Amino acid sequence: MALRLDSPVKYLKGVGDRRADQLRRLGIETAHDLLWHLPHRYLDASSVTPAGRVKVGDDVALVGQVVSKGVLPTRRGLRFFHAVLQDRSGAIECVWPGQAFLDRTISVGQTLLVAGPCRFFHGRQVLPREFVVLADQADTAGAGGFPLGKVLPVYPATEGLSHKVIRGLIGRHLDDLIRLTEEILPDDIRREFALPKLPDALREVHRPASVASAEQARRRLALDELLDLQLMLGRARFLAKRGRQGIAFENRRELTTKLKEALPWSLTADQRMAVREILGDMTAPDRMHRLLMGDVGTGKTVVALFAMLLAVENDYQAALMAPTELLAEQHHATLSDLLAPLEIVPGLLLGRLTAAEKSKVRKQLASGSMRLVVGTHALVQEAVAFQRLGLVVIDEQHRFGVGQRAAFIGKGEAPDTLLLSATPIPRTLALTRYGDLDLSVLRAKPPGRGSIRTVLRSTDHRDRVLDFVAERCRSGGQAYLVLPVIDESEKADLLAARTMADTLTARWDDLRVGLVHGRLKAAERDQVMRAFRAGEIDVLVATTVIEVGIDVPNATMMVIEHPDRFGLAQLHQLRGRVGRGTGESHCILLADRGTSRLKAFAATTDGFRIAELDLAERRHGDLLGQRQAGSEEVRVARFPDDTDLLARARSMAQRVLEDDPELGKREHRSMKGRAISRYPKAEILFRVG
Ligand code: ADP
Ligand code: MG
Repeated sequence: MALRLDSPVKYLKGVGDRRADQLRRLGIETAHDLLWHLPHRYLDASSVTPAGRVKVGDDVALVGQVVSKGVLPTRRGLRFFHAVLQDRSGAIECVWPGQAFLDRTISVGQTLLVAGPCRFFHGRQVLPREFVVLADQADTAGAGGFPLGKVLPVYPATEGLSHKVIRGLIGRHLDDLIRLTEEILPDDIRREFALPKLPDALREVHRPASVASAEQARRRLALDELLDLQLMLGRARFLAKRGRQGIAFENRRELTTKLKEALPWSLTADQRMAVREILGDMTAPDRMHRLLMGDVGTGKTVVALFAMLLAVENDYQAALMAPTELLAEQHHATLSDLLAPLEIVPGLLLGRLTAAEKSKVRKQLASGSMRLVVGTHALVQEAVAFQRLGLVVIDEQHRFGVGQRAAFIGKGEAPDTLLLSATPIPRTLALTRYGDLDLSVLRAKPPGRGSIRTVLRSTDHRDRVLDFVAERCRSGGQAYLVLPVIDESEKADLLAARTMADTLTARWDDLRVGLVHGRLKAAERDQVMRAFRAGEIDVLVATTVIEVGIDVPNATMMVIEHPDRFGLAQLHQLRGRVGRGTGESHCILLADRGTSRLKAFAATTDGFRIAELDLAERRHGDLLGQRQAGSEEVRVARFPDDTDLLARARSMAQRVLEDDPELGKREHRSMKGRAISRYPKAEILFRVG
């Protein structure tokens, strides 16, 4: 049978059932998947240093044969694996601290390529950052058929399936697979962007002439991937817009103008821009489908309120749904304050209301006497019906399931939708993740809001830090103390929340210490948070569960233990719980090493900047072999390096879809086929309509 790109890998020579199973674990099911299983890094063996010439302090790549090896016990109990590598110029020792298990993988006679720094320890010693086994037996080619002086692709591997096997497999079939691959981009686009041909790019990433040329080829493939994604997102946007006609609200300047006049402060420039964008969408006949993104405290609620009032002044109802009762109550309180001068009272619908209270709200919503309501998912319950719902606002939309969001939107004829998110992400990432939404961003915080001072303190200063916290609490302040784990047993070397709470209770008999963590039931957690907000708790010891967006203006101190355990974005989310009042707040990181990442974090409070740092950090983690969560939608593209490609892919996709929204034209058919094979969701999007 002739090989096709959609043939299951099982039919390839060298792949049996067992190997096919292993490949599936890497997401490789078809011949095409194997071809697109790209190296995640390269070992540059184009400049290999002879073993005899490696100098202390150098960072080197070298190739040698293992002449002896073994495990060395050390005083601290950490077992080192070591191997002596030899080539024609001499021999050198390599050590892998704490990796005794390598004794089972590496054997005498093998040829290794290693890369890493050389230090002095009873002699020259290389500490390989990475290595590959080039050959199992010494052979005359020197490196198991691997031509030295080249660049070696290293593939993501899995248990039982080493990258060496994968490299062999891909190497063996590469020419055949590439022969089956056709260019997908129309010639004019490819020329306009000066892109190498697809088959050439695929050959180059697998058999690169140099690391630089492999990178260039990877970018062409990344562009293809982003194009597929943008085609799918563009199609989704097209369908969403073309779908049921939306409401063309009229800008009557009644309630919205009244609100503007009644506000005790003026809107920030970002808020004004967001309001303009939102009102623009709402007054247009298409349905709004917009995401408002901004750090906690940037003032999203008031922006959402303008949208809600526009709906209300057009005789529609508006509803805001929040993920927890606490947040719903908080929004309700904020809106009530802002609306007081307008003599509008927003309704509140929560699961914990009595049956009578709930039924009263439901009646008012059904009759239309309630124009504006805030609630939890209680709003999407079947019994809830609106008289005329024109706008739905969803706070922290990622915390709701697709079904819940759809049910909420389904409460109206064709309501406009505004989504709120307090997780800033770089615009580039937003375009891949939320490419089907329009985006408004609040970057600057309103002036006059409290500032947050972030400092790093060594753990030797813990007592002093705690004294400082206690002193401020005694004069009426409140503090959060954040720890990475609940119990000691989870990680022996980490301070735990429960222990800390006990210690502090014993230490301060005049202060009230509370504890909140992820193993409490939601209702218990709410109760503790409520007590803290009410000032009945002075110091709240917590894991990372403290509600995003919770607003306790009086809490002006946050102490974080083991900050190195947290991602930068997570630290930033935590820090956002203080600085909600007008005075100065403190965020104190207790760490023994002022690592550069923590210093960078302390130096800025710009959530978008931190999101970029976080992304770069996780990308680094990715290179070290851990796949980053949430990135399954893009595998080839890397950010921020490929940011420019994203913009290109987006404009290409737009151009193609404008001309041919179904991708039905002959020259677009292979594009459509590939987008669908890469993103199964695309199949549905292109089938409907
Ligand atoms: P977010 O929901 O984005 O975290 P909020 O909408 O809760 O932020 O606003 C945070 C606080 O800032 C609220 O107390 C709000 O009244 C206040 N606020 C909002 N906009 C402004 C502004 N332009 N100037 C001053 N204070 C503002
Ligand atoms: Mg909020």
